[in-house]
Amino acid sequence: MNILLIGPQGSGKGTQGELLSQSLQIPHISSGDLLREEMTKHTPRARKLKTLVNNGKLVPDVLIEDMVLDRLGKVDCRKGFILEGFPRTIAQAEWLGDARTIRAVIELRLSTRDALRRIFLRKQCVSCGHTFGPGAVAYKKGSCDHCGGKLEKRADDTPAAVKKRLALYHEKTEPLIAYYRKQKVLLSFDGAQEIQGLFGKIANALKKIN
Ligand code: AMP
Repeated sequence: MNILLIGPQGSGKGTQGELLSQSLQIPHISSGDLLREEMTKHTPRARKLKTLVNNGKLVPDVLIEDMVLDRLGKVDCRKGFILEGFPRTIAQAEWLGDARTIRAVIELRLSTRDALRRIFLRKQCVSCGHTFGPGAVAYKKGSCDHCGGKLEKRADDTPAAVKKRLALYHEKTEPLIAYYRKQKVLLSFDGAQEIQGLFGKIANALKKIN
């Protein structure tokens, strides 16, 4: 089953994506993670990406579409995937719709106030990219549960970049909610709920369409 996760920054897409990946045994793919991995390379493309991403701007469609297509073509996506962070615009959604059939789009709703609070508190593993909130044991330890890597604030989680990213979300990504509702694949949830409770509701909703 091909699933998308949509919601503002900090709404828990990464956390729910990981839980769903474990339970459905299909990969969780984040376009932001694909880009951050690319940005670790010493190439002109990586330098260009860093400037865009760290300033809270969207990267050009063809660049991210190539990376997504490449990842979705890998053998582990044969039974489906959970894609987070892509599409971010109607143009990207139309492109994706031509490339793959999407069975479910999970929207996580969160107020701007809660999103800002979560983003300013979260930390990410510099090695594997896992994100942790202040409630996690790893957060208090300062090292990742999965690989032992150091936890740091994301380079693009600065107040100016976050403001820009949230504004971009409302302007460019929010119209996708109506787009997918019209296609009758939208499942909408309150992202402010506690992690396991929310996961249970999402898993139940997915069972009904399986
Ligand atoms: P995220 O980890 O989803 O917050 O993404 C981090 C950054 O990567 C975004 O602020 C954008 O600069 C870039 N990015 C991720 N996904 C996309 C996309 N679908 N289209 C354009 N830029 C993207």
